[in-house]
Amino acid sequence: MQNVLIIGSGCAGLTAAIYAGRANLNPLVLDGHEPGGQLSLTTHVENYPGFPEGILGPELIENMRKQAQRFGAEFKAGAVTEVDLTKRPFRVAAGKDAYETRTIIVAAGASARLLGLKGERELIGHGVSTCATCDGYFFRGKPIAVVGGGDSAMEEANFLSRYASRVYLIHRRQEFRASKIMVDRAKANGKIEFITPFVVDEILAPEGLVKGIRLRETHNGNTREIDLDGVFVAIGHNPNSIVFRGKLDMDENGYLIPREGSLTSVPGVFIAGDVQDHRYRQAVTAAGSGCMAAMDAERFLEKHKD
Ligand code: NAP
Repeated sequence: MQNVLIIGSGCAGLTAAIYAGRANLNPLVLDGHEPGGQLSLTTHVENYPGFPEGILGPELIENMRKQAQRFGAEFKAGAVTEVDLTKRPFRVAAGKDAYETRTIIVAAGASARLLGLKGERELIGHGVSTCATCDGYFFRGKPIAVVGGGDSAMEEANFLSRYASRVYLIHRRQEFRASKIMVDRAKANGKIEFITPFVVDEILAPEGLVKGIRLRETHNGNTREIDLDGVFVAIGHNPNSIVFRGKLDMDENGYLIPREGSLTSVPGVFIAGDVQDHRYRQAVTAAGSGCMAAMDAERFLEKHKD
């Protein structure tokens, strides 16, 4: 029987683990599909307080993990496949593993969105990627595209310009959702060429390997083809909340809805991080909400000592 089962090992889950660990609750953290969450797929983090020179995302996550372990948190590989929240203790299944727990902190994060093009998913690992940090190295000296107009797209385009011979930044509007500083930085980068307003109509991969893309200009329908070897899709994320459908309140996009602080409609279940935040989605806000969830879980356990 667990006191606190934390679903997800990103910034929110790990911060919850640090706090729950320090409260002597011996939390168990289920790593999920993407151990370390989105920070482990990013490069430089310049806005996490306490690191004046910035810190690499994977390093920040590794530090948090060690910090949680130091206070007694345990980690298990596995992604949750089923939850029963109808009575306490709650039951959680992750494949063949089953757990019973007094409280749950859902910090399952959000996962990368795809464009929805034919063959796109099958081409992941064959020229299509959602993770510049993971795959940039494979495109040394080759032309690639980054799709999207948010901070992620700008950051990935800049990062990928270290490897690629040319980076085409493709965005469906003339305006950018990304912060001005990120757009300016990308625009100042001689290797990055902005192509707007264009959408990707097709990823060209005649032999199962990306060889180019066909683009369509949004306002006049003109098409254009570009030869390239990689397509990095950076168009945002979907919350990993599917197993909670019908069990916890969520909005139309699947983001869990907190009631008060980290509380949910089910007493003993708390939520933190990007799975419940489509507005701020920052490492520091995820960490803050992880702290809140752990404190709420601690209070709940104190009240329900049965
Ligand atoms: P985002 O801000 O939601 O931006 C997604 C972008 O993808 C938008 O420009 C959107 O276009 C475009 N898009 C969405 N669906 C599309 C589709 N089907 N086809 C073509 N384009 C599509 O996502 P994000 O860039 O991943 O950023 C998420 C959050 O993390 C933001 O709050 C961001 O500030 C933060 N972040 C911060 C940093 C940093 O500060 N270092 C780095 C990365 C991310 P429209 O604009 O036309 O909707």
